[in-house]
Amino acid sequence: MISHLARAISASPTFALNEKARMLREKGEPVINMGIGEPKNKAPITAILSSAAKLTSGDVKYTPPDGTPGLKKAIIRYTEENYDKLVAPENVLVSAGAKQSIFNVLYSILNPQDEVIILTPYWVSYTEMVKMVYGIPVVVAPEDGTFHPRMSDIERSVTSYTKAIIVNSPNNPSGLVFSEQFIAEIVEFCERRRIYLIMDDIYHKLVFDGRRAPPAYKFTDKDLESSMIIVVNGISKLYGMTGFRIGWAIASRKLIEVMLNVQAQTTSCTSVVLQSAAEGALLGMQSIVENLRLILENNRNIIMQELISFRGLKVIEPQGTFYCLPDFRNYCPSAIARDSVELAKFILDKALVVTVPGKEFGMEGHLRLSYAGSAKEIREGIERIKWVVDPSSPNEIYIGDRKMIRDWL
Ligand code: PMP
Repeated sequence: MISHLARAISASPTFALNEKARMLREKGEPVINMGIGEPKNKAPITAILSSAAKLTSGDVKYTPPDGTPGLKKAIIRYTEENYDKLVAPENVLVSAGAKQSIFNVLYSILNPQDEVIILTPYWVSYTEMVKMVYGIPVVVAPEDGTFHPRMSDIERSVTSYTKAIIVNSPNNPSGLVFSEQFIAEIVEFCERRRIYLIMDDIYHKLVFDGRRAPPAYKFTDKDLESSMIIVVNGISKLYGMTGFRIGWAIASRKLIEVMLNVQAQTTSCTSVVLQSAAEGALLGMQSIVENLRLILENNRNIIMQELISFRGLKVIEPQGTFYCLPDFRNYCPSAIARDSVELAKFILDKALVVTVPGKEFGMEGHLRLSYAGSAKEIREGIERIKWVVDPSSPNEIYIGDRKMIRDWL
């Protein structure tokens, strides 16, 4: 009785793992969550105050489907400050998280059987969302075995059905920031071939070592109305406001108008209380983002230090986000099954550490580790993972106050 299409959509593995971790923690187990995709910081006070003011006014009604004028103004300012790009209110659509923004884009541009190029390693939801609107995800992996996409691989996969390419840099799950040269090339290619370029910029300010994520706009001379670039952004990661569910898309007026109709007929608008919170965050002190960035850069250094002590582990240093994607293929002793889903389950069962299987990102043999937690959790989490998979590590460990002995290697 369920539709074929709906049945084909896979469950979100991250939510499933988080749920399992929550249940174990509720039972009092000392779980370390390295699976989660959210920073630990509290929402900025300016966000709390402005949403609380809205709530206490009792005047909580529908907003215009594209977002409140106040929030849109704040987004326009944000876009000007961070992208050096002046956009009009008609170029902005506020949605319930960047996730809904991306869905709205895909729904609005794809005809059935149209293809969307997705670059490995990729965020799990892209493939599922493309399928949900009867499109075909075309997954392109760099043939040189790195995490950095190459135009030559992409061009080979483009057909007359290619409608869009999704680029996520800084990248979830690899933490890589794509090069200026690549961004310049892909912008030029998409503008020339009239293929939409969906830039998922949700992590664009969480970049390390003095780098900057190259903004796509820098490499086009087209104005917004004729450009193929669509930029998706939001408050979830930058301000640690994942639960507020506010994201937005910037695109041509023509496309935004269609996306607005799609949204108006499905969810009407996002909550005015949460839009007020987003406005508060965007207009408040931006040092919050810089503080978070510094903490994450420090955490990145800690996790790299810990991972380097694994002898056979291959890990590429993340340049942004709060994820890394080490390759565990040298650590698959016979007792542990050779696939990443089994490995993640085994690590959770034995050592109570949540990770996300690389398979979900098109990277079998890898695990995505989040370093959004505390330094202590990161150190302990890696020590436990090491105890599970590395025969050269001591075979006794304390997990909470229980002494555990490894008997499987
Ligand atoms: N894009 C990427 C690459 C993400 O990692 C996430 C969050 N996991 C999102 C989009 C969705 O963000 P939001 O919470 O704004 O829906």
